[in-house]
Amino acid sequence: MNGQVGFIGCGKMAQAMIQGMLTSGILSPEQIIVSARTEETLISVKDQFHIKTSTNNEMVARDADYLFLAVKPDLYTEVINEVKNVMKEDAIVITIAAGISLDFIEKTFGRRVKVVRSMPNTPSLVGEGMSALCASNSVHSDEMIDVIRLFESFGKAEVIEEKLMDAIPAISGSSPAYVYMFIEAMADGAVIQGIPREKAYKLAAQAVLGAAKMVLETGLHPGELKDNVCTPGGATIQAVAELEKHGFRSSVISAMERCTKKSVELS
Ligand code: NAD
Repeated sequence: MNGQVGFIGCGKMAQAMIQGMLTSGILSPEQIIVSARTEETLISVKDQFHIKTSTNNEMVARDADYLFLAVKPDLYTEVINEVKNVMKEDAIVITIAAGISLDFIEKTFGRRVKVVRSMPNTPSLVGEGMSALCASNSVHSDEMIDVIRLFESFGKAEVIEEKLMDAIPAISGSSPAYVYMFIEAMADGAVIQGIPREKAYKLAAQAVLGAAKMVLETGLHPGELKDNVCTPGGATIQAVAELEKHGFRSSVISAMERCTKKSVELS
């Protein structure tokens, strides 16, 4: 893919996306430049990815055709004010922060600007990210195709209506955290039965990966897949009944409601 990609902010999320972009081969290291607040971060990023780095946000913005704003949401105004007068006229600004609307970005720039609002997640690091995207009217469909290609270089991407974006952190941006808790809990359960800790993590993680792939690749309803595992009178239905007794599914739904509420509050 052609063009220069800039990242303002190079923490966990930016590094996960950069790793995915480079591993997929869609970009070469010379096409990526990043800035961060500390030299320490930049040294580590340079060592890891061999990309260009700077402590100067303007420098990153000046050459970028795609400019990712990968800082915390409360820094967006400050960062946009730093770069708005040096950025290329037709550059595409890509936001990754929860709750930052397309309208907010355009107002902060004080002019019409091409913006893609996205919500990625950290499994991008291993090429299995899930990102939701929406764009301002000024982004042409062929430009959006290129942005989607960028996101698909580190996982899957779905274009959705902006009004649904606030619901995305709970299902993909933040959800890896609860899936890790589930894997950790399953491993604890296996360790109780005497399975060595490292093997327990591997068994639990691969079971989650396999189950997720079954949902994606068979197209069957998750309930049907669950039913297929539950032999009548067998052991699995006992586990399912126990999870139901403790409100497993309603806990997940309530957790997601809280996550969504907080994402909106933080914006
Ligand atoms: P992080 O704290 O790991 O990284 C933030 C980066 O911003 C650091 O490299 C820091 O040096 C840099 N920074 C701070 N102030 C700066 C400034 N003024 N100019 C340039 N760089 C500056 O945070 P993160 O987890 O990578 O999150 C970054 C954004 O991604 C947030 O808006 C977050 O909501 C969003 N996000 C994160 C995840 C996730 O799972 N971590 C998922 C989806 C979206």
